[in-house]
Amino acid sequence: ALRLDGLQRDFGALNALKGLDLTIQRGEFIALLGPSGCGKSTALNCIAGLLPLTGGSIWLDERRIDTLRPEERGFGMVFQNYALFPHLTARRNIGFGLRMRGVPKPELERRVDAAIAMVRLESQSEKLPGQMSGGQQQRVAIARAVVVEPPLVLMDEPLSNLDAKLRIEMRQEIRRIHNQLGTTTIYVTHDQEEALSLADRIVVLRDGRIRQVGAPEELYARPAHLDVAEFMGYRT
Ligand code: ATP
Ligand code: MG
Repeated sequence: ALRLDGLQRDFGALNALKGLDLTIQRGEFIALLGPSGCGKSTALNCIAGLLPLTGGSIWLDERRIDTLRPEERGFGMVFQNYALFPHLTARRNIGFGLRMRGVPKPELERRVDAAIAMVRLESQSEKLPGQMSGGQQQRVAIARAVVVEPPLVLMDEPLSNLDAKLRIEMRQEIRRIHNQLGTTTIYVTHDQEEALSLADRIVVLRDGRIRQVGAPEELYARPAHLDVAEFMGYRT
């Protein structure tokens, strides 16, 4: 399990995260949901190790990890803007992490092929990112994140640059890949519909605090606060 214990992050005088406590079970799909500026990306970056904490700690299976560098944590990251290497083909982008880890060539090729098939990019694998559509680039980014079989996959609004139709298609893809790999996923979004349709549990964040945690049907049926109700789409 991944455990956040009093997670805090300040930016100068601003308390962006005011003490998050949360335990995520292995294999869970968690949506981190909340309005712009509530601290979603900050929380994800703290978990990934891209931002140091101001207070609290992070644990993975009883091991304290917030003191480790990002590459030592080895989590898979998918960002809104894909962040692919522009000069590498899809295949080479996907294989990059395995190459860095010194995985032998035959095994590397086999795993890259499997990842390419998983995101259904067989016909695109020799293209450069600039020659691919947004949805195809995001598939490359997802394959690159999961090919190393990370203990945790972190996604920050991965579909927000795509059009509505592709967003819904890719939503289903992401859930399918999660199920297929049995990985643990934290998925940041400000889109309640996306959170409701994807997640095993939704964590509602507001002003740097967790307002409510629950299964989608639970949050929808029994919002614990008026602001959660409003955010879930109730008219009050
Ligand atoms: P969005 O949905 O718009 O992406 P978010 O929930 O991801 O929002 P964060 O990016 O985590 O929000 O920001 C939380 C708060 O921390 C905001 O008030 C933001 O202005 C502030 N913040 C984030 N990063 C920095 C930074 N590097 N320096 C100063 N303030 C920051
Ligand atoms: Mg953000």
